[in-house]
Parts: sequence; C-alpha cells; structure tokens
Amino acid sequence: MHPNSCWALFMDTRYLHRQPIWDAKPARGGSCIWKSLKGLQHFLKDGTRWVVGNGESISFWMDKWLGNQPLYTLFPHLANNFLKVNWIINESGNWDLSHVHDLDLLNTLREVRLLPHPNLAVCDSMGWEDTDLGPATVKSCWNSIRTSRPKVNWASLVWHPILPPRVSLFAWRAFHHRTPTDEWASRRGFSLASRCHLCYQHSEDECHLFFGCPATSPVWNQLVAWTHSTPPRQQPIAAALKQWVASITLPRTGRFVCKVLFLLCVFEIWKARNDAKFNGNPPNTPHIINNIRRSMRDAFSIHGSKWQLDPQSIRLVNSLGIPSTPTPPTPPIEVKWIKPKPPWIKCNIDGASKGNPGPSGAGGLFRDHNGRFLLGFACNTKRNTNMFAEFFALYRGLMIWLDTHPHFTGPLWIESDSLVVVNTILEKASATPRIKHLVEIIHSHLRTLSLWHISHVFREGNRVADKLANLAIVEPTEAIWNSPPASIVPFLNDDANEVPQHRFPKGS
Ligand SMILES: [Zn+2]
Repeated sequence: MHPNSCWALFMDTRYLHRQPIWDAKPARGGSCIWKSLKGLQHFLKDGTRWVVGNGESISFWMDKWLGNQPLYTLFPHLANNFLKVNWIINESGNWDLSHVHDLDLLNTLREVRLLPHPNLAVCDSMGWEDTDLGPATVKSCWNSIRTSRPKVNWASLVWHPILPPRVSLFAWRAFHHRTPTDEWASRRGFSLASRCHLCYQHSEDECHLFFGCPATSPVWNQLVAWTHSTPPRQQPIAAALKQWVASITLPRTGRFVCKVLFLLCVFEIWKARNDAKFNGNPPNTPHIINNIRRSMRDAFSIHGSKWQLDPQSIRLVNSLGIPSTPTPPTPPIEVKWIKPKPPWIKCNIDGASKGNPGPSGAGGLFRDHNGRFLLGFACNTKRNTNMFAEFFALYRGLMIWLDTHPHFTGPLWIESDSLVVVNTILEKASATPRIKHLVEIIHSHLRTLSLWHISHVFREGNRVADKLANLAIVEPTEAIWNSPPASIVPFLNDDANEVPQHRFPKGS
C-alpha cells in the first residue's frame, strides 16, 4: 500500500496518529470496525514480514525481518528498542556486519545472504509471510477465522463449471433439502393447502415432485433409456442420485456425464413445475427432454473436448444427439536441452523445495555452445517456498557469474522451468512483495549485459539445474564448481548430445 494513498492517509489521520498499527489503541466508543480490525491484528503480525529496503523503518530487534521470529526472542539480553536494520547496511547499500561483535548474533546475521540486497533508494515494506499452510493471504486469514463445515462429497459436482450457474445454485439448494416446495414452506411455519402442480393428485414435496409424480416419470424413463440404468427411487435428491449412480456401469468420465444429466433432469422438472404453478402451463414432457438435451449439448460444446471418453460413454453422448468421436491418446512430447549458438552462454536455473514452504535450495549452471560446463552452484535457501527458490536461483546465479566473469557483457541465454520466473523477468507478470527486491536486482544485473534472453523449458529439459537445486537442499553451505560434480556428469553428457527426454501429458 502506498503511504500517500487515500486509504493510508485516512487510516493514519483517523486512527494511527503516526504510530505503527500494532501500537495504535482503539478509542473508547470508537468505530466497531476499527476495533474488529485491531482484534485480528495478530493474524497480520504472524502472517507478514518486513522486506528490507533502506532499513530505516524496521526495528532491528523487535520486527520480523530475518528468520521466522524477531531477533529479540533469540538474544533478549542484547535487545534494545531503538536500533534499526540500517545499523548493518553501509553507505554503499551493502550488508555490513563489521560492527557486530557477538559471535552468536554474527552467525545468525550471516543469514542475510539469503535476503535480497538492501536498496537505499527504496523504503522498507511489508509482505505476506509463508506459513505452514502456504503463503499467508487475505484468504488464509479468512479461512483461519471463519467457521467452516465439513466438506460434502457432492460439492465438486454441484459447482463444476460445466453446469450453468442457475443449475448449480438450484442443485446446491436441492442437496441441502431446501427446494422451495410446499412441504418446505410448511416446514418453515407457513400453513397452506398443498397440491402438486404437475399431477394435482398429491401434496407437493421434494420426493413426490421429482421422483414420484406420474407427470415426471416419462423424463426419468428417458434418462434410464439413455444411460441403461434403473429409475431413481423416491427419496431426497442427494440420496436418489447416489443410489441411481450406483446402478450405472460406465467408467468414471461416463458416470460424471450421467450425474450432470441427472441434475439437468431435476432442474428442468423444477422449471416445468414453476411454469405450471405461475403461468398455468401443463407439463410438456417432449419440451422438458429437449431442454435437457440442449443444455447437455451446450455444456459439452464448451467442456467436452477436455474429456477422454471411452466408447460406451461416447455412445451415451451420441444418443443425446451430441456428435463425439474417441479422443486419441496424446503422444509424449520430446524435450531436449538445446545448445546455444556461439558466442552465447546458456544459464539453466532451478529452485526446489521439500514442502511449500519447506527445506529448499537453488541451483544452476552455465554452459557454452558445446554444452561444456563452465560454472555451477548450489545454494541452500533454508525454509522457503519453491517460488522463492526459483527466483533466488536466478538472482544468485547471475551474481556468481558476474563476480567471476567481471568483463562478461553477454550474450546470455537464461532458461528456467518456471513460467512465473520467465514472465516476471519479462515484465508480463508482476512480482509479489517477497520477491520484488530479488527481481529488481536481477534486472539491474541484466541491464549490464549487451544482450540477454530468457525462455521457458519443460522440467525434462532442465534436469541438470534440477539436480543441483536438490543437492542444495541437503547441503548447508553454498557450493560453487568450476568443474562438474560427479553426480551430474551423465546428465551433462546427455544434454551435450541433445538426447531427447520424454514428457508424458497429464492423465496418460
Ligand atoms: Zn405430482
């Protein structure tokens, strides 16, 4: 949030009075919204961390900016309230630990090498922290404070994108046994003389209307004919669907098509009921069946191409008047590491983590036009997200290469198997607060090159960098190699010979 934005100015003038948000106290009789926000601030405190810019606003001891807790929790005997992080940033904007004399503190502070370089031109900022459940976000805070009910097994069907929203909403009510029939109204205390608007022979309740009414049985007979199943029994909708699906012998995708058909039948019966009740139109079975067929055809035209249907399910779909042919299995793709043309140098980078976040590492290597190994590195990035490690690999790789090749000006071809990294560096995607500084530094390095290029490669073409990143997870100290470690030599040889690897499409 920009400090001069209207919202920031309002909050500061009205509530904060230039204090940090943690210290501001709600006034007696003040706004209940502000009090509620203050009541939740521990979520913000746990879920955020400082990102060092010039280090002037961050309390060295009291704020969380290095590791997972403020430094005073580790060194309570040394802490004071007034020291800021710029204490360890020198005038050139580099980390400078020369005035730290306590050895334990010095050891802890060495972890600053995992943080982006400070930037004297940028104010400190606050970003979302990665928690054990993934990156903290407004959504994760909301999930922590809301009361949620156990997940139901029909949710993925009811909210599947193949269903039009009005069908989803109706099905959701129906699965909760809350279809607004006469019986539902009387359950809520309305006394009325109930009558089924389709057959005029029975009082109106969910079980009768959908499954017991003689006026709707032709619809179910048609469904049974389409799907070679037994008719659903007269019972609440969720139970009826479960029992009916059990009678279907089709494989998984075919059963899903059947469930969608079932919901469309229920929805169309409900529409016919409303048409009879409010417009006085008697139910028209061919019209209902046509509507079901048309809705299915519309849904299939949008989503059907994604499904790999077996021959039996294709017969079902065809019987609804929807043309469909068997989908041929997708062949595996050949992926290989491509040598750069001289004088290009190619840099492959990768990040890896065991858990997200979890123990993580960044690795990468530089090769010439013959695929010859020039330089490699593996850097442990402690407990972090995979995404952080991906960006850190590029950041650290560029830094090591330019330090060891001070006269290098390009051309450099960077390859990553993370589309997020590629798109962020190409400025097609914006950087999240946690990696914004890394990206700024990466760009500042790239600006020193006369020519560079970044591209995406599938993981199968980035195997050596992947090996190095995984090596980094188990190696506590950073390793830099001028000749390749033995464990990656076979993969280097494959790449130098451009041996193709096979990438199998998902689900095959
Ligand atoms: Zn009826």
